[in-house]
This record gives sequence, C-alpha cells and structure tokens, in this order.
Amino acid sequence: MKFLCDGMLVGLARYLRFLGQDVVVVENFSGDLRHAGRYRERFFLTTSRRHYLLWPFPDKYLVSSGQTEDQFRRICSLFPVFQEMAFLTRCSRCNEKIVSLDRADVCGKVPEKVFQSIQQFYHCPRCGRIYWEGGHVQRLKDKLKRMGVPLGG
Ligand SMILES: [Zn+2]
Repeated sequence: MKFLCDGMLVGLARYLRFLGQDVVVVENFSGDLRHAGRYRERFFLTTSRRHYLLWPFPDKYLVSSGQTEDQFRRICSLFPVFQEMAFLTRCSRCNEKIVSLDRADVCGKVPEKVFQSIQQFYHCPRCGRIYWEGGHVQRLKDKLKRMGVPLGG
C-alpha cells in the first residue's frame, strides 16, 4: 500500500517500510497540505485531529498516539499490509527500494567480520546505506512475528 505518515509517525513509517510498504513521511504539514494533490493516491495517517480534519481526501485515518508497536499492530489489523508484504525490500530510512550490490563494492565499507560471513549485500540508491541479512534481521523478524506479522524463517 501507499501511505503518507504525518511527521510524528516516523517510527510507524519505519515498521511499515520493513514490510515493503511505500511510506512517505510528511516533513512540513502546511507545506504538504498546499500540495496535497500529489499525495492523493496515498492513505494519510496522523495522530493529530487537526491535521486529520484539514486533510482534503477521504483516505485518512486518525491513529491513536502512544507506543509505535501498538500503532503498528492497529494499522496491520486495518489495512491489507500482509497481502502485499515484501519484507526488507525498502530502505527504512528513506523509503527507496534497495538493490543488490556487487560484493567487491562492499569491501572496506562494512566490518571485516560481516564481509567475511555474508555473501549478498544490498544498498539504498538514495542514501547509500548498506544492508545485509545478519543477526539483526533475525531479531527484527522475531520481533515482528511476536507482533503478529506472518513471516517465515
Ligand atoms: Zn536510504
């Protein structure tokens, strides 16, 4: 799905990106409101009642403020995010789709131990962040599974 998360929902945006959802974060609400038309195909999520009321399109949802994990569970129960799940295919920081990298290009850019033990690396073409499936990914997977995300492995 395509979402537009209000600025206070950066944590929620990251969780949704882990599942491959296309999530743009509002940087300046009044600025984005003036150009709301460009986000028309996105479902707007906010914790601000004021922003919710001001948003001109019907695809919007007022998220209760509180723990990011609770917000994430709620959105997972309301939207078909599991049907279109593509785990870890986007940069969690900037929403860009990550692409695979030549192993040779990674040498010296990640810790030596990581380089020796991992075969496949990816990076974000926008911010350059390098990704790989290490122990941190397994921990994230376990955490998401505890929150009800149907992930294998
Ligand atoms: Zn990035």
